[in-house]
Amino acid sequence: MSETPLSPAFRAKTVLSHLRETMSAQVSTVESVRVEHSHGEALDAACLPVAVVFAESTADVSTVLRLCHEHRVPVVAFGAGTSVEGHVTPPEHGISLDLSRMKEIVQFNAEDLDCRVQAGLTRQELNLRIRDSGLFFPVDPGGEATLGGMCATRASGTAAVKYGTMKENVLGLTVVLATGEVIRTGGRVRKSSTGYDLTSLFVGSEGTLGIITEIQLRLYGLPEAIAAAVCQFETVDDAVRTAVELIQYGIPVARVELADEVQMAACIAYSHLDELRPLPTLFFEFSGGPAAVREQVEATEGIARENRGLGFTWADTPEERSRLWKARHNAYWAARAIDHTALVISTDCIVPISRLAELIDGVRQDVAVSGLRAAMVGHVGDGNFHTLILTDPTPEGRRRLLDLDRQIVGRALALGGSCSGEHGVGIGKQEFLEAEHGAGALSVMRALKQTMDPHDILNPRKLLPPGEVYRG
Ligand SMILES: Cc1cc2nc3c(=O)[nH]c(=O)nc-3n(C[C@H](O)[C@H](O)[C@H](O)COP(=O)(O)OP(=O)(O)OC[C@H]3O[C@@H](n4cnc5c(N)ncnc54)[C@H](O)[C@@H]3O)c2cc1C
Repeated sequence: MSETPLSPAFRAKTVLSHLRETMSAQVSTVESVRVEHSHGEALDAACLPVAVVFAESTADVSTVLRLCHEHRVPVVAFGAGTSVEGHVTPPEHGISLDLSRMKEIVQFNAEDLDCRVQAGLTRQELNLRIRDSGLFFPVDPGGEATLGGMCATRASGTAAVKYGTMKENVLGLTVVLATGEVIRTGGRVRKSSTGYDLTSLFVGSEGTLGIITEIQLRLYGLPEAIAAAVCQFETVDDAVRTAVELIQYGIPVARVELADEVQMAACIAYSHLDELRPLPTLFFEFSGGPAAVREQVEATEGIARENRGLGFTWADTPEERSRLWKARHNAYWAARAIDHTALVISTDCIVPISRLAELIDGVRQDVAVSGLRAAMVGHVGDGNFHTLILTDPTPEGRRRLLDLDRQIVGRALALGGSCSGEHGVGIGKQEFLEAEHGAGALSVMRALKQTMDPHDILNPRKLLPPGEVYRG
């Protein structure tokens, strides 16, 4: 490709030569490093960034964005690269801005149950560093994700049924805007009725509106007592009804996860779990004071029995709890191990809890008709579950897989749900956004993007499909 002075390749080179002058030790053009930053955990094709820049401070991020804004060079923030919808794949001639070196706990306010961290810290690292304080951060996506990436995708996980998602647990942010300007949003208080809620705007914006460098997080006291339980069922319907009734009766369960018979067969083979059968299974966790935990276990056991649960095993020691939950913890890798050569995607739809049984029933019918292999696992207490679909690694296999995904999303939207409860949009879910939000709301989102990033340098062509921009 020719490199005229205004070509994207020329502009990227110009930015790189400036960056090498000021932060050369943090700039890498090594092939293996670029490959690592060319994709996340998605099916979408990878694209090599021209370089990877490792930020070590908010000032570094500001320097990179100021230069990229001036020279119109795309920048994609990179946390741990565990996102599953093509979020971190850079466009051609783009820079990958890696925040994983920014790992400090900037403030720790035990009395107020909050802390301020840099965006590259992972939630596991945070919990390890603060464990002696008796506090913890509960949002737990399956991968070893950074807290910045979790903010950017509005992540959640198994504990959302009790503690909420990133949306409920972020009090404020430091954000570098496309121009390099640094702003702070929110604060340390639990509520405030002043101004537009910019914190919520950035949480879930997937690096398209600004790059988050610091996060003020809510923390929680470690529960006095924890119990885990497992119950198997003859049918998925019985298992789902148990989970839904648990929520409808207001039992404050800390986690309730479903694995269907395909997923359980995979888990049993993967983790050598002889005591379990390949049947639909619910995994529970309860936490609080010892008496309250005991009450929750008993009430749940009663509901499971009424729904024909086949035994209900529970435990309260850490070792026994981990043993009971082992199958659930390894679910994703167990499903992938069904066939290492297969293409795999994980759907992520969510519906209001009262429609969950209907959705799961419909999805199982769709899977049967498709003839594809699929395992189901999910955060059923929130109405959210994943169908891990496997197919041949051929164009035809890929087409069948994406057709099934579309059918599943169509069902969820028809039941008042969303195409993604926690993974986000990236590239993979863009085609569903108009059906979910409506053309009017999407045009307002595009207007926001244009205002905040007029040269479209921040993770371009992600999250928003092309279309009308609201002009007032
Ligand atoms: C095995 C497995 C299990 C998973 N389970 C769950 C689950 O239970 N729940 C769930 O929610 N997700 C889950 N995920 C998906 C993934 O872990 C989450 O999306 C996670 O939040 C991504 O964090 P990350 O640090 O890897 O971000 P990345 O993948 O690096 O980035 C994700 C997006 O955020 C942007 N970004 C990253 N850092 C910043 C920043 N500092 N400022 C602005 N934008 C930024 C990127 O540009 C990109 O658009 C799972 C993934 C895997 C592989």
